[in-house]
Amino acid sequence: MKKIQMTTPLVEMDGDEMTRILWKMIKDELLLPFIDLNTEYYDLGLNYRNETDDQVTIDAAEATKKYGVAVKCATITPNHARMDEYDLKKMYKSPNGTIRAILDGTVFRAPIVVKGIEPCVRNWKKPITLARHAYGDIYKNTEMYIDRPGKVELVYTSEDGEEKRSLVQEFKAPGVAMGMHNMTASIESFARSCFNYALDTKQDVWFGAKDTISKTYDAKFKEVFQTIFDTEFKDKFEEAGLTYFYSLIDDIVARVMKAEGGFIWACKNYDGDVMSDMVSSAFGSLAMMTSVLVSPQGYYEYEAAHGTVQRHYYRHLEGKETSTNSVATIFAWTGALRKRGELDGSQELSDFADKLEKATLSTIESGKMTKDLALITSIENPTVLNSRDFILAIREELEKML
Ligand code: NAD
Repeated sequence: MKKIQMTTPLVEMDGDEMTRILWKMIKDELLLPFIDLNTEYYDLGLNYRNETDDQVTIDAAEATKKYGVAVKCATITPNHARMDEYDLKKMYKSPNGTIRAILDGTVFRAPIVVKGIEPCVRNWKKPITLARHAYGDIYKNTEMYIDRPGKVELVYTSEDGEEKRSLVQEFKAPGVAMGMHNMTASIESFARSCFNYALDTKQDVWFGAKDTISKTYDAKFKEVFQTIFDTEFKDKFEEAGLTYFYSLIDDIVARVMKAEGGFIWACKNYDGDVMSDMVSSAFGSLAMMTSVLVSPQGYYEYEAAHGTVQRHYYRHLEGKETSTNSVATIFAWTGALRKRGELDGSQELSDFADKLEKATLSTIESGKMTKDLALITSIENPTVLNSRDFILAIREELEKML
């Protein structure tokens, strides 16, 4: 069989631990036999990040700007324990944070829906894609303990010396206080990313904030979204038969629970943090969530939403069998290959991505799956496969389709 050719390279970011093991298996069994894989390889494994003082992460992000599409394996974000384990020169920042800062994107997470793994919200029939604004609010806050009576004020001093002050609280007794911010430009690019991704994936956009209580801060989010929509997207949405819907966050949450799915839920930073875990757990498993970073310029970086599955890796190192779910990592590859195919006009590449996804889903639907899914499936007597055999079972399905 002739292998599929690629014209433009895909930026490939390798990673750590169990997902690094899966990464190689996926390439060897599901990609390289069928595609003349054209990638520019960056090793984001912690050892090489340490060797290059993390320059490799920056280079990988820059390459994503050059080529437009990247696929990333899960990576370790170092903490104190990792400093010792990997003998690190310093505590490097999260690679995802570094890449996001360079690409200035929004992360869209969507569950992979498959028969046999039913969401615990009965009426959810289609995936809910969660878009999280990844800048500011409590994640860039400043806080203080108030240990005795006194007043807390918010003070702004402009560069030319003008001052604005407002009282936060007159403390009569101990308490706590916090200041936080966001940037109009960041909210604008978040809104643009959401609307662009909606057109890309043919889904409506829902956005919720609390502008009735937060009449300046959250009201700004609401206003920015509406203005960007009205001035840049309204016509395109009408043409595509899509809608943009704003409501209070509590109303949105209530509607989400009653909805069928199939839309993009745009969330402020904290809401997105909390709600993405709710959505992924309700849809079944973290191991069945994909994640894509979309920049306002239209660069795409695909990955699995989960981490490096450390516990399984230690078992693997002890020579024990693992049953690690590779679905989200496979879908990171298919997402990237499909986008590469779209951008390069290669129908063959996009079709391959579709088939690999279908093969993955039908493997699960036929009852063959990893342990994490076997624990939650409605399929009776599933066959639990180890990490490699699951990938081999997918290959068998794929070969039938090609
Ligand atoms: P994790 O996602 O690796 O694991 C969380 C839990 O979910 C574990 O119980 C694990 O067994 C289970 N799980 C996750 N993915 C699974 C899969 N594919 N198959 C079967 N079970 C799965 O998160 P963690 O344990 O908090 O973190 C481990 C490492 O991953 C940390 O070093 C962290 O920094 C890193 N991490 C990276 C990313 C990323 O690169 N995007 C995201 C999260 C965590």
